Amino acid sequence: MEKLRILARKVGKTGVILAGGATATYVVYSGVKALQNAFDTDEGKLADGVPQNYAWAPLPSRAQLIESLKTDEFDVLVIGGGATGTGVAVDAVSRGLKTAMVEKYDFGSGTSSRSTKLIHGGVRYLEKAVFSLSYQQYCMVEEALAERANLINIAPHLAYPFPIMLPLYKRWQIPYFWAGIKAYDWVAGKQKLKSSYFLGRKKALEIFPMLKKDKLRGALVYYDGQHDDARMNISLAITAVRLGGSVMNYVEVLEILKTPDSEGKEVVSGAKVRDRMTGEEWNVKAKCVINATGPYTDRIRTMANPEVKKICQPSQGVHVVLPDYYSPTSMGLLDPATSDGRIIFFLPWQNVTIAGTTDEACEVTDFPSPTEKEIQFILNEIRHYLDPDVEIRRGDVLSAWCGIRPLVCDPNKADTQSIARNHIIEVTPDNLITIAGGKWTTYRHMAEETVDRAVEVCNLKPKTKCRTKGLLLDGAHGYTPTFFIRLVQDFGLENDVAQHLASTYGDKAFKVAKLASLTGKRWPVVGKRLHEEFPYIEAEVRYAVKEYACRAIDVLARRTRLTFCNVHAAEEALPRIVEIMAEELKWNKKKQKEEIDHAKTFLRREMGLDLGTGAKNVPINFTKDEINLYVNRFKTLDSDHKGYITVNDLRKYFKKIGERVSEDQLHDILNEVDLNKNAQVDLGEFLQLMSALKSGNVANSRFAQVTQMMQERDKISVERSGGGV
Ligand SMILES: Cc1cc2nc3c(=O)[nH]c(=O)nc-3n(C[C@H](O)[C@H](O)[C@H](O)COP(=O)(O)OP(=O)(O)OC[C@H]3O[C@@H](n4cnc5c(N)ncnc54)[C@H](O)[C@@H]3O)c2cc1C
Repeated sequence: MEKLRILARKVGKTGVILAGGATATYVVYSGVKALQNAFDTDEGKLADGVPQNYAWAPLPSRAQLIESLKTDEFDVLVIGGGATGTGVAVDAVSRGLKTAMVEKYDFGSGTSSRSTKLIHGGVRYLEKAVFSLSYQQYCMVEEALAERANLINIAPHLAYPFPIMLPLYKRWQIPYFWAGIKAYDWVAGKQKLKSSYFLGRKKALEIFPMLKKDKLRGALVYYDGQHDDARMNISLAITAVRLGGSVMNYVEVLEILKTPDSEGKEVVSGAKVRDRMTGEEWNVKAKCVINATGPYTDRIRTMANPEVKKICQPSQGVHVVLPDYYSPTSMGLLDPATSDGRIIFFLPWQNVTIAGTTDEACEVTDFPSPTEKEIQFILNEIRHYLDPDVEIRRGDVLSAWCGIRPLVCDPNKADTQSIARNHIIEVTPDNLITIAGGKWTTYRHMAEETVDRAVEVCNLKPKTKCRTKGLLLDGAHGYTPTFFIRLVQDFGLENDVAQHLASTYGDKAFKVAKLASLTGKRWPVVGKRLHEEFPYIEAEVRYAVKEYACRAIDVLARRTRLTFCNVHAAEEALPRIVEIMAEELKWNKKKQKEEIDHAKTFLRREMGLDLGTGAKNVPINFTKDEINLYVNRFKTLDSDHKGYITVNDLRKYFKKIGERVSEDQLHDILNEVDLNKNAQVDLGEFLQLMSALKSGNVANSRFAQVTQMMQERDKISVERSGGGV
């Protein structure tokens, strides 16, 4: 213990914490191991002048970083704080280059927090490589598999090996896919996470009982990685700051600046920026400017050179989030090649199931929004993989989001699905360097190549070569898989809360736990939850502010993943989050209200809140005769007088009138009317939709077509009866 205290004093970090109700003095960090790691991990590897024990380097305040952006002259200015931009910043600063990075919203708020959360080589690309004998595709897979291993190594608290099942419904698929995944293991070589294997039908159903049983022949299981993409992104940004970078969110590039070089040629020399939190504008000076803006690539390129040809072909992908019971806790399901060439998956993640996705050419927007049509499309697709016993209900959708893939355009191909997800580095004659395309998994390799190129083109003088392979990210130094136990024992946190903190903040979880307030209960001692269904605690909001969270949505969407897991829970937690941020950031009442309104718009526009409820809250405005008419129609559908309509009733109705309607269409029709999403439509919901149809609030409704058909039949029956004569 004495040795521990001495070590703690060395870094000046001792503290008083609570342990199961008793107060005891302990070292704040996770014991000797964490302290030793802090000193010995990367010592000697980093460039001179870069903090060698960066893991514990204090974080400067936002004001200090802004001041540095205003006054310092940089070697490198990176635009964009997604995976690519933060990756480039870590690479440049760890080589000893004076580095700045600016992000116009929050770190990772673009595509990088909206991915499928896989760290993968791409089984599908390997298949393409084999069939098209493409050495380039093969190299891309090999590179991604090496990066997959590296990422799990440098952020073991955030990324982990993850088994994925490929269900097989045709005999020929068994040898075909088996050869494919074995080749995937083989290409990974020493970097293989775990060996793939075959499961017979019985075993596959034991592990994945909700799988469609009919004609199931067996399944193959292979390994890729999974991570919390937003946290990984923030962790990269924080690592860059601890290494000495001037990295800031909510700072937007407005103009690219140019000055004549020694030969009189106009070259890029910085950027005019605006602090979106204060409106202040100034110029950041840099020898080299790197455009890492993902889907916005062409906006920055045309900002510098209005004549350039576009290189980015954006495509949007929607994910829906379903409850955890749609997948086993520790295994995903993926069909890498549906009949029309797309990928369909369900992946357990943070105690929910992520299902997706779509791939549609789109326009670039700051507010990518999922549509009801896309959500219904995904639900219909996943229905093909689940047992008919598992009813997939629209009401089970907890959240939905849309990300824009920054695909690099090949002008000769129109189909976005045929574009390889590899990256390009472009250097214009005036030295603007653009890094575009690629994927999350390969951000480090992309960054390495980009900084190599920047050094060459802009004549920079780094103190070392690239150091990022094996360079631990923030939180990784003192982390061990049993780290959470210390949090339970030393602080009196609940087990699931401790596990969540450890797997999000790694060794910095102690810092978060230190901010946790007493619950006033015997157990847990500390750690008030933000929402009872989730392990996120109030202390995380305070910690997020220290890590530069500026707005309520930063906490809702990226510092915690509440909006991604359950948009309704996020809405419920919002007022408390704003309250805590108001204490930390000294927000007045007006600002608090602005934040609530801003976050609610975000939840509605970008996270699927209120989608699928088009007819909700429409006043019922019928005459007595109309009410009688609609009540009669309801009764016609509810033929066995249960008091509600189900899919079965619709099925019976269509059969009776001789109309052929598919199972998917039946579900869609019911979903439109089922306002409270319990798979049943009661008279109130029915009348509300009829009223919405009458007032034009629900256009193009399929249910409208059904009622139209009923109306036609009503008319015919009147005519047949001789008009009552
Ligand atoms: C649906 C979907 C699923 C995916 N799944 C996976 C997956 O499972 N695994 C995988 O490896 N990859 C996946 N990807 C790919 C991966 O997410 C992206 O390749 C990666 O996140 C792109 O990162 P980026 O930094 O280039 O772009 P972004 O994350 O979009 O970052 C660009 C940033 O630039 C900022 N910016 C723009 N203009 C300015 C300006 N003027 N000033 C300052 N900042 C600016 C933006 O605000 C934005 O934050 C997926 C992509 C999508 C769309």
